[in-house]
Amino acid sequence: MKYYLFILLFISFYSIGFSQRSKVEKELKYLSSDQLKGRANGSPELLEAANWIAEEYKQIGLKSPAFADNYLHEVRLVSVENQHKNLILNGLSISKEKFFVLGQKENFKLTNADKVKLFVVSEYDDIMAIFSQIRLINESYAVLIHPEHTRRFERLSRYFSRPKRELENEEANFSLWVLSDEESIQNIDLTVINNLNSTTIFNVIGELPSPSSQDRKWIYSSHYDHLGIMPNVNGDSIANGANDDASGVVAVLELARKFSKGERPEKSLYFVAFAGEELGLFGSKKLASTLDLDSIEAMINIEMIGFPNEDLGPQSAYITGYELSYLPAFMAKNTKVEKFMFFPDPYTYLDLFNRSDNATFANYGIPAHSVSTYSENDESYHAVNDEFENLEIDHIMEVIEAIYESTFPMLELNYDPGVIDYKTKTDR
Ligand SMILES: [Zn+2]
Repeated sequence: MKYYLFILLFISFYSIGFSQRSKVEKELKYLSSDQLKGRANGSPELLEAANWIAEEYKQIGLKSPAFADNYLHEVRLVSVENQHKNLILNGLSISKEKFFVLGQKENFKLTNADKVKLFVVSEYDDIMAIFSQIRLINESYAVLIHPEHTRRFERLSRYFSRPKRELENEEANFSLWVLSDEESIQNIDLTVINNLNSTTIFNVIGELPSPSSQDRKWIYSSHYDHLGIMPNVNGDSIANGANDDASGVVAVLELARKFSKGERPEKSLYFVAFAGEELGLFGSKKLASTLDLDSIEAMINIEMIGFPNEDLGPQSAYITGYELSYLPAFMAKNTKVEKFMFFPDPYTYLDLFNRSDNATFANYGIPAHSVSTYSENDESYHAVNDEFENLEIDHIMEVIEAIYESTFPMLELNYDPGVIDYKTKTDR
């Protein structure tokens, strides 16, 4: 009798595991299918994927946060194409190659120099250092750059003249960059006419609220956008993004199911599928500007866990920015999945830490890391052969389980993950 009971229990445990596995497999098949045409930002297929993820959240029983509409968090992008510009500075007409204007206004005119902050880059200054600092300033400004820096100026001008999508900025500031040996502005007459092109994409975000009244939240995230259609290779032009990052999206969904079914964590959890990652981490940047960041305690981002890493082998994954906070070492120590191990990122020279959505939150001092099994020299990376067929479902299931087991103890209210020791190198 005992023996039969044992077999019965074994069969039921096995079948639960089996049904989770087949659900994850089915989800991966859908997200990486040709039907979604590579989930390009701005495509109707990305919206289809967003609605599909939202429906999954609903089935799981997650709450839609107040700032989202049915789990969809709006991210507005705009690309600016310059149609016309004219500048007279201190009575001199400046030729078009010698100035450029950055900003998302459709058209504007500046006739009073007092309205903008002025920076002067002398022949001895390091123009790139100054450039990266003043670009982050949140007001309108003008920069006079000494002709000594002509070659750098030309490169910057060429780069910024190409229309590219960026996050819509509600402030509508602008900046004027002029190659000139003037050191002050007595009078100015600037006219700019731009053509603005808007695109709306959506992060998909669901919340598992805390049973306690304390507002302490963790984020489990991945990105569901990918590269869409690419140049044809052997009859295939769809970049399916099965590993990058459908594997992360199904991990987020599976984690949401695990956390809402089993013992409930004491902290609130956000489950996020970001859009706009491939364009420049736009989805996470928008979310960071929307959330009250004081309540966000930590973030686990999941990037490319589709098959084992070549260098570390099966039953392992690595965590980016390993030494920057307590969080990765805690996970490594508390992995309960048999034989499974978390390692530090073996490719620190690739700067993977800065290349995914975790970096956005780390910039604010929040312990935010990516878990990955991406291999250096992976030929399917950002290529049309990043396909469902490459994926190893058992590996994906193990990584998900390991993330679940190893982060669960940190979701008790008495655990504080601290801050991350990280300073922004560049504005991305
Ligand atoms: Zn990715």
